Amino acid sequence: MSLQRRDFFKIAAAGSAALLAGKATASTDSEVQDFKSSLGVLVDTVVCIGCRKCEWACNDENKLPTQELKAFDDKSVFARHRRPDKAAYTVVNKFTDPNTPEKPFTMKVQCMHCNHPACVSACIVGALEKDPLGPVVYDSWKCIGCRYCMVACPFQIPAYEYSNALDPQVRKCTFCFDRVTKDGKKPACVSICPNEALTFGTREQLLDVAYQRIRNNPDKYYQHVYGELEAGGTSWMYLAPCDFSKTELPLLSNDEIPKQTESIQHGIFKSFLPPLALYGLLGLIMYTKRHGADEEEDGHESA
Ligand code: SF4
Ligand code: SF4
Ligand code: SF4
Repeated sequence: MSLQRRDFFKIAAAGSAALLAGKATASTDSEVQDFKSSLGVLVDTVVCIGCRKCEWACNDENKLPTQELKAFDDKSVFARHRRPDKAAYTVVNKFTDPNTPEKPFTMKVQCMHCNHPACVSACIVGALEKDPLGPVVYDSWKCIGCRYCMVACPFQIPAYEYSNALDPQVRKCTFCFDRVTKDGKKPACVSICPNEALTFGTREQLLDVAYQRIRNNPDKYYQHVYGELEAGGTSWMYLAPCDFSKTELPLLSNDEIPKQTESIQHGIFKSFLPPLALYGLLGLIMYTKRHGADEEEDGHESA
């Protein structure tokens, strides 16, 4: 079978499977699941000591280019605001509440593994999926590089390997999926955290822990668990010493983001091709574009 033909079947299979899977996931999420038993992590920025060990553990677990653990003692990085990217799925930043400048705090950020992920909803070939256990997982085999997920994510998390000319992929926190679901371990960042700033469990357990900490220390905590409701809820949730406008987490309504994007999509598609057909066509165009260079290279090599 020629490469082109094989690619065509790959697109067709990925497209239809993904569309079906996407539909199934969307209806399961909104109609059946309450996400109480979804796995998640509570990030407690009140007890985070900004040690950056979570950054190192994440790099190490995901085989990202990294330095030795000791190099992460360097706190000079807090001088500038950093974002997760293709080479660092999580980063820790430092914040100051102007009302209490003497008490700066540090916050780890990564993919939130949303209950109703906008990235999943936006992906036209189902390369991103919400696993029933909670993590939002990425399948590079299906990805056509359209980067709609990057546009859709309200947390601006997915990063793209622009510098990888041969097989660029979308990169984000994996929730250490294999480590958690197959090896029965905690995520690497949680395992290494020395100060219980990261707690792993079900959303129900995490909300219990979060509200208990708020109740026990009302002077230390802002009375809100970020991610309990924002954007329809997220698997990763946060506690902070001050209101969340002083952090880098966006202030979102409780509405599911996919509902908003879907209503826009439906408006766009109303007078055009049926969405399924258009998605398939778009997928084919993007995939051909992305892999055209590879085929040309293969052709040169075999000529
Ligand atoms: S934070 Fe962004 S990338 Fe992560 S699940 Fe939510 S929408 Fe997707
Ligand atoms: S869960 Fe895994 S991939 Fe995600 S930030 Fe933690 S160590 Fe990194
Ligand atoms: S390892 Fe824990 S305490 Fe250290 S920076 Fe990360 S979240 Fe904070």
